[in-house]
Amino acid sequence: MLWLRNPLAIFVDGDVDAGGGIVVCDGKIRQLVPCGGQPETACAVFDASEHVVLPGLINTHHHFYQTLTRAHPDAINRELFDWLTALYPIWARLGPDGLRLATRLALTELMMSGVTCSSDHHYVFPGGLEDALDIQAEEAQALGMRMVLNRGSMDLPQKDGGLPPDSVVQDRDTILADSERVIARYHDACEGAMLQVALAPCSPFSVTRGLMRDTAELARRCGCALHTHLGETHDEDAFCVERFGCRPVDYLEDSGWLGDRTWLAHGIHFDDDEVARLGKAGVGVCHCPTSNAVLASGTCRTRELEAAGVKLGLGVDGSASNDSSNMMEGVRHALMAARLRYDATVTHRDALRWATAGSAACLGRSDIGAIAPGMQADLALFKLDELRFSGAHDPLAALVLCGAHRADRVMIKGRWTVEDGMPVGVDVERLRHEHGGIAKLFG
Ligand code: ZN
Repeated sequence: MLWLRNPLAIFVDGDVDAGGGIVVCDGKIRQLVPCGGQPETACAVFDASEHVVLPGLINTHHHFYQTLTRAHPDAINRELFDWLTALYPIWARLGPDGLRLATRLALTELMMSGVTCSSDHHYVFPGGLEDALDIQAEEAQALGMRMVLNRGSMDLPQKDGGLPPDSVVQDRDTILADSERVIARYHDACEGAMLQVALAPCSPFSVTRGLMRDTAELARRCGCALHTHLGETHDEDAFCVERFGCRPVDYLEDSGWLGDRTWLAHGIHFDDDEVARLGKAGVGVCHCPTSNAVLASGTCRTRELEAAGVKLGLGVDGSASNDSSNMMEGVRHALMAARLRYDATVTHRDALRWATAGSAACLGRSDIGAIAPGMQADLALFKLDELRFSGAHDPLAALVLCGAHRADRVMIKGRWTVEDGMPVGVDVERLRHEHGGIAKLFG
């Protein structure tokens, strides 16, 4: 039992008084202590008086392998389709060692920015990388990170009118069989799950309609979530109209995907009618403000989506279009993008809510994303001891407005995974050296 005593500030719902801190027991939050109060039972104490405490951040969209191709000269300064076309042949070189180090690095980087649960959409399966998700599961378990493994897929190569080259796609039977395998092996539907599986055909321009339908059926049968890229660019709209004779949300509905177990990456170019349909169906949208800016894709209609009932989460997206994996930076960018699109009534609390409770809702989780009794003890603690915070008055606003980048402490399921700003059990210098070495193969 541990009492995180008297935090400098704490991000809790509305008028709950948790000024005295949090009591953690057996991997869960046992009690919120009011200001000046004491825990109900005796416990060890962690002095949190210099820390701003958040629920652990939840990243709902990423492509870990792309950490090997950040700021790539063949791809920078391009929009999505040209960017993808430049990178697909490079990504076709991905092998098990590269994916392992990329996963380790991305998870570590995310955790150091305050993330306690991350989704990863892995859809590149060149020959020899059939056990991609097994590698990712091993790495997440070794780090103690909560993770949603997305069994991604592509089965529409260039020769059939798609965007990816033949070398990175798989056939439908192989994809569905491996999807069943990884669900059986890794999907834990219980409260407090450390690993879950979602099924994630990549995008309308890299996947056949048949695979979309079969995947939806399999997800329904196995009780897991569905994820894909949608509404990211005008090019995608045009592709859908030309190939499928309809817009992306019609395509989603026709494929059996318009339901509350689906969350979408990006969700930028939906019209009013589509926003209403997505909200009515209880679909989630992962807002990726940094990637959307880098690829000049547009700005997400966060206000309209939330007003319609869409679950709105946050993601950093892959590290070839971000190009970092810093979730706190993503929170700041989400606030900035919303202020540019709307007005100053969007606040730092909204951006933090998207990265926590909103993201949890996208993933269909009710046990993470908030600081409340009974929730998993997933927490991110930040100190305001860098020059960038000096002179700041509101500690919670300062995290977002001054640009916090690095958590001082992270707890996942009641266990410290970051201490004094460093990941527990990870040799960061060695990881950077090894990852940087293998990334040279992708130059
Ligand atoms: Zn993506």
